[in-house]
Amino acid sequence: MTLFTPQPGIMEIALYEGGKSKIAGRDDVLKLSSNENPLGVPPSAQEAMVAAVGRVHLYPNTDHAPLRAAIGEVHGLDPERIICGVGSDEVLQFVTQAFSGPGDEIIHTEHGFSMYPVLTHMAGATPVRVPEAERVVDVDAILNAVTERTRIVLLTNPGNPTGTMLSDAQLVRLADGLPERVILVIDAAYAEYAAGYDGGAELATERPNVLMTRTFSKIYGLGGLRVGWGYGPKEMIEVMTRIRQPFNLSDLQMQAAEAAVRDPDWARDCAALNADQRARLTGALRQLGLACDDSQTNFVLARFADGGEAAAADTALQGDGIIVRRVGGYGFPEGLRITVGDEDQTGRVIDALTRWREAGA
Ligand SMILES: *Cc1c(COP(=O)(O)O)cnc(C)c1O
Repeated sequence: MTLFTPQPGIMEIALYEGGKSKIAGRDDVLKLSSNENPLGVPPSAQEAMVAAVGRVHLYPNTDHAPLRAAIGEVHGLDPERIICGVGSDEVLQFVTQAFSGPGDEIIHTEHGFSMYPVLTHMAGATPVRVPEAERVVDVDAILNAVTERTRIVLLTNPGNPTGTMLSDAQLVRLADGLPERVILVIDAAYAEYAAGYDGGAELATERPNVLMTRTFSKIYGLGGLRVGWGYGPKEMIEVMTRIRQPFNLSDLQMQAAEAAVRDPDWARDCAALNADQRARLTGALRQLGLACDDSQTNFVLARFADGGEAAAADTALQGDGIIVRRVGGYGFPEGLRITVGDEDQTGRVIDALTRWREAGA
């Protein structure tokens, strides 16, 4: 690297390793490692894409107005304060890139999303990792880590891979405790699975320094399409819009997302199925003697005695054609993160773990 010197921080970024999706010799693989929607793509979104497919010789609109209007209508938010991105990952990139640089610090929590340090290094800023308390975000630890250099706090609420969340009161306490010059980003990718939670929308409406990010990848079943959005103060959105590529979203992406968000039953049905199967899976794991917190998301973090036992269970599950997520990289070598599937899929996981337990007993 003598001819071309990468920008500061870039060489700190490890190359992304995608999750496994195949098991040699099996065609009945059940992938429960990426928190994908067991009900698949909403039919409404599929129809919208089919209808739009003959128009892709045309450049898409650049202001995302129809999609922002739909999101605004459904969520009761001002469309002028919404920005859309290639997944919420891109919205997170807008905020880190627009508001931080070399010499600045970005705080994330111990078990926070693996993209946060990557996005921080992409901006040339310095990631600051603060501890959680028993797998729950620790508001005081965040506040104690704030320095003159802090520009942004990246918070996943509910958390991934913990599945736990801060109450509204704790979120307010965090927002109150931060200097107004520090942006609080509430990454609410799993908001729809947490009953009664607005994803931080109210805080982002009221405060000058709070940004909420949301995604179509989880409850809306469009992870492969890559659409997300952010909602925050108008000035902040206007700054981020300057670094957004005008054609970042294709018409297919926007049409599908608009149809999905306007589909009155989809999100509700998915949330109901998830709540039922999540309770069932959590109960079954505990019956098998595995620790797991109550989850507010579409996955459950099962904790085993140690890393060796988690690895053995993972191997057993793969032997049954089931792929779940090892989460050692998130600070849980003893954990397996299991996406909540439909009734049959959840049954398959419970049966496989039951057999594994019985074989070891
Ligand atoms: C899945 C997930 C997202 C969504 O990312 P997209 O880029 O919208 O697919 C964001 N944050 C967290 C913590 C997630 O787990």
